[in-house]
Amino acid sequence: MEVIKSYIAGQFIDTDSDLRIDVFNPGTGDIYGQIIESSISDVNNAVDSAKRISSYWAGIGIDKRCQFLLDFSNEIKSRLSEFAEMETRDTGKPITLSKSVDIPRSIENFKFFSEHTKNFSFSSELNSGTSRNRILNSPLGVVGCISPWNLPLYLFTWKIAPALASGNTVIAKPSEIAPYTAYMLGEICNKISLPPGVLNILQGRGSSVGNQMVKHEDIKAISFTGGTSTGRIIYKNSAGSLKKLSLEMGGKNPAIVFADSDYQSTLDNIVTSCFSNQGQICLCSSRIIIEKKIYEKFRYDFCEKISHLKIGDPADEKTEYGAISSKEHLDKIIRYISLAKDEGARILHGGDEIILQGGCKDGYFFSPTVLEGLSQSSRLSQEEIFGPVVCLYSFDTEQEAVSRANDSNYGLSATIWTSDQKKASRVSNEINAGVIWINSWMIRDLRTPFGGMKHSGLGREGGDYILEFFTEKKNICYPYETKV
Ligand code: NAD
Repeated sequence: MEVIKSYIAGQFIDTDSDLRIDVFNPGTGDIYGQIIESSISDVNNAVDSAKRISSYWAGIGIDKRCQFLLDFSNEIKSRLSEFAEMETRDTGKPITLSKSVDIPRSIENFKFFSEHTKNFSFSSELNSGTSRNRILNSPLGVVGCISPWNLPLYLFTWKIAPALASGNTVIAKPSEIAPYTAYMLGEICNKISLPPGVLNILQGRGSSVGNQMVKHEDIKAISFTGGTSTGRIIYKNSAGSLKKLSLEMGGKNPAIVFADSDYQSTLDNIVTSCFSNQGQICLCSSRIIIEKKIYEKFRYDFCEKISHLKIGDPADEKTEYGAISSKEHLDKIIRYISLAKDEGARILHGGDEIILQGGCKDGYFFSPTVLEGLSQSSRLSQEEIFGPVVCLYSFDTEQEAVSRANDSNYGLSATIWTSDQKKASRVSNEINAGVIWINSWMIRDLRTPFGGMKHSGLGREGGDYILEFFTEKKNICYPYETKV
């Protein structure tokens, strides 16, 4: 049985906490390890150690900090297979996805910010005839990063890398459902001799450890990715300490399919965008809005293509579609299917739990599911399920497609499928979402702003946007003639 400890001030600590949290392999249903949850005094010790080293870390300069980031990147790269295996054990995602997306992107997060931050403006000048102004962008001090279970190391490092590069020391908490690669990141800190206290990794539940981070007076900002309901709690609980917040939250992402799109490419890409990681990516499409002329054909071909997905052991290289990340989440999906029936949905594909043979017989598998016949106001049309459940709708006019797409409290991402460039441009301007892809999905330039509108997010991550978040501006003004 693995024991997963918190990493504080350069050490995996033996804590005074007696709370243990079982960690499951969703592919097999086995408990493979236990988290020892950080206690209140562990959180305080982590913040104290981060505070102690804060001015040293800010003062060593951008080049040295970026070298540490590059060291992180190289060390993860040298253990790519091991990281990928552990990510798959924690989440149930196909090993090919961990190897080709999750871990490579974690490696890239550190590498990207090690280069990009060197060009960030930490200091600039604005002079007029009467005054000189020096504008400093300074690190905040100690900051917090809280991440979810669906892309564990990918999203953990997406926050940690810019926080460290911009000169902050960090308290980071992974999801208690998928903690292992974050635990391994502590080993990497030791390997690269990161000064103790610069990065502290706390293990435990959101309602205890996460909540304490959010309320802590000495943590100056929280970068959070997770569900909208949790984001609301964090917003409320951070009021006492008035900290900066970046909230990346849920989505109910539309895909608009016009009859003039490249049919085969659209079909292939939409299957991927709906069912990658079993629909458990915040950017997955879950509402497919199809032009009426091609609705019947698209619906048939879509279900046909899904029926060929190779569902199986997440650790098997041949598997294309793995497990749901936890038993609780599987039960939530099952409840939504029962609700869909009550709301009058027709199940075109799936709708059932899958029982596999052999080592995965107790794993958490659910078939890729396609529904139609739901009203726009139904809960299935409006609520985020965050699983392999997709609703189909049809439209006659462009305006109807846009209004269906925008009829949601969420606004994270959208995809538009058409060969008419002018139409693509018109529709993308009208859709209320933070990230829009035309004839594509999940292509990422890490310099671009990433985040959601409406209930999907507050603030933007990526490139300079997250570096701005992790820094604070100071304007130093003096008369033009004065030399400082
Ligand atoms: P979650 O909100 O349950 O948990 C996310 C993190 O917050 C975990 O580390 C959890 O321990 C912590 N947490 C929970 N309660 C807390 C509290 N009161 N105070 C502080 N921290 C707390 O989300 P999840 O189930 O892990 O992830 C799924 C959700 O994440 C989905 O809604 C999905 O859309 C969203 N998500 C969004 C993005 C994005 O970029 N917008 C990316 C990935 C996932």
